[in-house]
Amino acid sequence: MNLIETFQPSLRGRADRPALWFDGRWYTFGELDRQSDAVARALVSDCGIRRGDRVSMFLGNCPELIVFYLAGLKAGAIVVPMNLLYRERELTHLLTDAEPRVLLCDPPRFEVLAPLRHRFDALEQIFVTGAETPAAARGFGELTEAAPDTPLSVAGISGADPALMIYTSGTTGRSKGALLTHRNLASNIVTLLQCWQWTAADRFLLALPMFHIHGLGNGLHGALASGCTTFLLPRFHADTATELLRREKCTLFFGVPTMYERLLEHADAGGAVPAGMRLYVSGSAPLSPDTFARFKTVFGHEILERYGMSETAMITSNPYAGPRVQGSVGKPLPGVSVRIVDEAGVAVADDETGEIQLRGPNVLKEYWRQPEMTVEAFQDGWFRTGDLGRYDGQGNIIICGRAKELIISGGFNIYPQEIINCLVDHAGVVEAAVIGVPDQRRGELPKAYVVAAEPLPTEAELTAYCTAQLASFKVPKRIVFLDALPRNAMGKLQLQNLPERDCL
Ligand code: AMP
Repeated sequence: MNLIETFQPSLRGRADRPALWFDGRWYTFGELDRQSDAVARALVSDCGIRRGDRVSMFLGNCPELIVFYLAGLKAGAIVVPMNLLYRERELTHLLTDAEPRVLLCDPPRFEVLAPLRHRFDALEQIFVTGAETPAAARGFGELTEAAPDTPLSVAGISGADPALMIYTSGTTGRSKGALLTHRNLASNIVTLLQCWQWTAADRFLLALPMFHIHGLGNGLHGALASGCTTFLLPRFHADTATELLRREKCTLFFGVPTMYERLLEHADAGGAVPAGMRLYVSGSAPLSPDTFARFKTVFGHEILERYGMSETAMITSNPYAGPRVQGSVGKPLPGVSVRIVDEAGVAVADDETGEIQLRGPNVLKEYWRQPEMTVEAFQDGWFRTGDLGRYDGQGNIIICGRAKELIISGGFNIYPQEIINCLVDHAGVVEAAVIGVPDQRRGELPKAYVVAAEPLPTEAELTAYCTAQLASFKVPKRIVFLDALPRNAMGKLQLQNLPERDCL
């Protein structure tokens, strides 16, 4: 089964029902279906997109993103979403690596992209949303013009065909494309609908960015597969979100822990608490027991915590019915097998910590054009998450840390090496180290330690340099200058000996 077929009961079966609310406008499932049919046809006939070609999206949450995404899937292309915050360095790497032939962006993102465009030979067409189309681009409206008379058939696309490529950073500091097939995504969303009892009766507030597996693979896919009504926000603000949850009598909300912190702050400051909610889900970063407990007191709901990754979509979940275990990410989803092993791949004792590995229909096909990394990502056929976990004695998994170096800030992943690579490219930096320091609101924040060279740069200069090169969430919030980085006798960096590791 391909992913579009899991959406068809909604797109066609509920064609006249309200699918989406965005900025005061309503869209039916039929409109999304017809528009995406038109765009799919235009991608094939006008842009020459063939099976397996990449098409990319670089824009904020909006209906055009959904239409383009569906169209890319219907055309048999591999859709490559890009993090909105990406800047020169990340864009150059991603577009050179994925080589999309067509890209959709919004006007602000076109401004960022246009000066770099000459670097991307494969990129033939850029479509831009909005009323005014820049001279060097084409308007998205052109793609939706020719409304097709007959529905497009997607029967030729198989479950094994690649559908989505999500870039995820790695310890090398160069992000790699996790290539997910139609089957990976379809099997995962069908399972989630069952586990979370998600139906067409739900009213879902989607405020997560759709360039990430959480917003796209859980949020949008679930909305389209269930046939529920979705209220889409371009970005999360606690006051707008609370207002919509209340006014539209929403039943379902997904967030990262930072969003739950913000909802609590809003309620603490006198904001009214929504009534009628059925389910709040959290993931992408650890939900602190404190946030879980305070949310239960103030909002009257136990947040359902789940665990997943770009490479695998969702892996585990707390139960919908029955108590949710605070501090645990729950049990493997039906069809997913998890093992917790030591470095040799041997299962650890029940109460011991090891690496979480999994097998299942949700596990990625490969890393794009990285056969060696694909091989390294598996041990005896099991996908290595790089996360450390243990069982709680009841079969629930507790994530205890990460074998991989990873900072999670506001639900976004930051691999220190990526920031280090950027810093050392600056003429005033000899070497650098980056760590995550605890932060109440965002979970962690990146802090850099730098050994500088003459002429010595200031912290402000290095911050401005990183801001131009990297997405804002990766820019170190503090840069400390050291004479030397702490190393042991073997020359190995001793991150634990860096000064003031617990604060900015
Ligand atoms: P991403 O590929 O951006 O979705 O990031 C995946 C990583 O986020 C995982 O490997 C974990 O390290 C982390 N993660 C996701 N969900 C959770 C969770 N509920 N608790 C702790 N860490 C999580």
